[in-house]
Amino acid sequence: MISLEQLVRPNIWKLAPYSSARDEYSGKEAHVFLDANENPYNAPYNRYPDPLQREVKAALSKVKGVPADMIFLGNGSDEAIDLAYRVFCQPGRDNVVAIAPTYGMYKVCADINDVEYREVLLDESTYQFSADRLLAACDVHTKLIWICSPNNPTGNSLSRDEMLKVIESFEGIVIVDEAYIDFSQQPSLCRELPAHPNLIVMQTMSKAWGSAAIRLGMAFASKEIIHIYNKVKYPYNVNMLTQQQALEALKDPFEVDKWVKILLAERSRMIQALNELPICQQVFKTDANFFLARVTDANAIYNYLVDKGVIVRNRNRITLCKDCLRITIGTRSENNELLSALRQY
Ligand SMILES: *Cc1c(COP(=O)(O)O)cnc(C)c1O
Repeated sequence: MISLEQLVRPNIWKLAPYSSARDEYSGKEAHVFLDANENPYNAPYNRYPDPLQREVKAALSKVKGVPADMIFLGNGSDEAIDLAYRVFCQPGRDNVVAIAPTYGMYKVCADINDVEYREVLLDESTYQFSADRLLAACDVHTKLIWICSPNNPTGNSLSRDEMLKVIESFEGIVIVDEAYIDFSQQPSLCRELPAHPNLIVMQTMSKAWGSAAIRLGMAFASKEIIHIYNKVKYPYNVNMLTQQQALEALKDPFEVDKWVKILLAERSRMIQALNELPICQQVFKTDANFFLARVTDANAIYNYLVDKGVIVRNRNRITLCKDCLRITIGTRSENNELLSALRQY
């Protein structure tokens, strides 16, 4: 099997990271801190936050069943996406392969980092993918494969067997974005991490955890990969307020379970109601807190809804999503407002 050293950019492999005051002394026994040029006034905002977010990772480790040294935390998933390019991909030379359609940030970050982005279309009726077709798009310069399951914007979970086949066959890094995993019937691939050192699983506090505002994204991977991410990230990438708020949220995972149950029940109700509308051609299978619906005229219906103050996502121009709207599940009354608007269309 290919070694991590062969996959990581040489300059990153040998990078000596910035060593902050808190890296050099992180103990708790001391009581006079005159090492970081902080202002002694304005507590608690005067102190730099923990660069490695140890308390948050300890709490997350319990909730997710992943050891703390296999967790990276970033300023949203976006940071973990960008880091993957900066760690593994040589600009102007390397490429990545991804399913399409999928989340737009993988391509934006590829473009920013001057990395070729190769798309392999999902099946147009099931939105499933074929491991063989994904692998066939790879060459010696392919460093990353992006998979998103449940996928955005299609909503469906991808085949676990196909994902494992890619992870087991590809001589590079496979990143599975599980932003919607808490809504899914499928188990997380986190349990596959110990057996697959080339796997990175991403999750986020932004969806099921109801905390998009705090910007906290996670990557789970081998401790060797996490160590490299920690070298490359900004020293204080997750601020104190975010760390505190994440700890609060993590104290109450049962609250999240309650939200998920309600949202899944609302999702069933909405899908059934949509299917009864004459404007609805098809609601695609979903495992997330949204669904994709093909309608008679997505642009017209989108504009009509905007006029009524109800905003959904128009995916009409996205590959394989002609005339599709992506509809997020809201509260019961928000959902009812959407339904009554659509019924009057
Ligand atoms: C919403 C979403 C995220 C979350 O991004 P954050 O930066 O953590 O808010 C990540 N991946 C996908 C596919 C998403 O839809």
